[in-house]
Amino acid sequence: DKFPGAEYTMAFDTIMPDGKTLQIGTVHNLGQTFAHTFEITFENKEGNHEYAYQTCYGISDRVIAAAIAAHGDEKGLQLPPEISPKQITIIPIIFKDGGEEVMAKCNEIKDALEAKGIRVQMDTRDIRPGKKFFDWELKGTPLRFELGPRDLNNNVAIIGRRDTGEKIEVSLDDDITEKVSNLLVEVEESMKANSWAKQEEKIVTLDSLDNVSDIVDEGKVVKFYWCGDEECGKAIEEETGVDILGINEEDIETDKACPHCGKPAKHLALMAKTY
Ligand SMILES: [Zn+2]
Repeated sequence: DKFPGAEYTMAFDTIMPDGKTLQIGTVHNLGQTFAHTFEITFENKEGNHEYAYQTCYGISDRVIAAAIAAHGDEKGLQLPPEISPKQITIIPIIFKDGGEEVMAKCNEIKDALEAKGIRVQMDTRDIRPGKKFFDWELKGTPLRFELGPRDLNNNVAIIGRRDTGEKIEVSLDDDITEKVSNLLVEVEESMKANSWAKQEEKIVTLDSLDNVSDIVDEGKVVKFYWCGDEECGKAIEEETGVDILGINEEDIETDKACPHCGKPAKHLALMAKTY
C-alpha cells in the first residue's frame, strides 16, 4: 500500500489482542516526485540545481489506542513508565495519630523523586487507602508508594508494581529515588518483553494459504513466502478475503515457492484482518 507518488512506504502495525492489526504509523520515501511538482530545488556541491529528495511520515493518536489495548488488563489501564503521565503515586496512609509525620516523610520523598525528574503524584484524598489503590490500578500508574504510621515506626515503606502486582518492602534508609528509578526501568523492560512475546505468538508462518481465513479468524497474523508479484497478491486477497499487510522481510534467500502461483518466493509477507 504505497503512498501515491512515493518511491516506497514503510508501515508500522500493532497486533491488537483480538489478532486484528492496527496501523500506527507510516514513513514515505517521496523521492523527487513532489519536488518536480512544486519546483523545489537545491544547489548541490558542484553549484548545479537539483530537485530535492523528500521524505514524510505520519504517526497518529492510534498509537495511544494501541498502547492502551496492548498493555491493559482486567484491572484497567497499564501504562509503560516512559509514556505514563505520572510514574508513581504516593499514598500516605493516615489515621488519627501520626498523620503529620507520615505526610512530612511523603513530602520529603516526593521532592526527592521530583528532583530526579520522576513524575510523581500524591493522593491525599480523605478516603480509604483500598479505594485509592483501586483507582490508581484502574488508571494504570506503573508504581505506587505506600507509607503509614506503622511503616514509619518500622522505618519501611511498600512499593507496589502495577504490572506484576508485586509488593516490595523498602527500608527508608535506602536511597528511595534510586530504587524507584531502577524499578521504572525494570517495569518498562518487562512490559516491553511481554508485549513482544504476545505479538510474536500471534504470528504463524504457513506454507499453504488454504486455511488462511480460518486461521486469521482465530486471531492470528499469517506470514507466508511470496513471489512479490502484484497480480498474484491481488488474487490472493480476492480468493482468501484477507488483506496482505505488506512485505515483512525483503529479498530473502529461500528455495520455497509462492503458495499461490508456484513461482520462486522472494519475500516473507504478512496477512491479517485490519482495523
Ligand atoms: Zn505468487
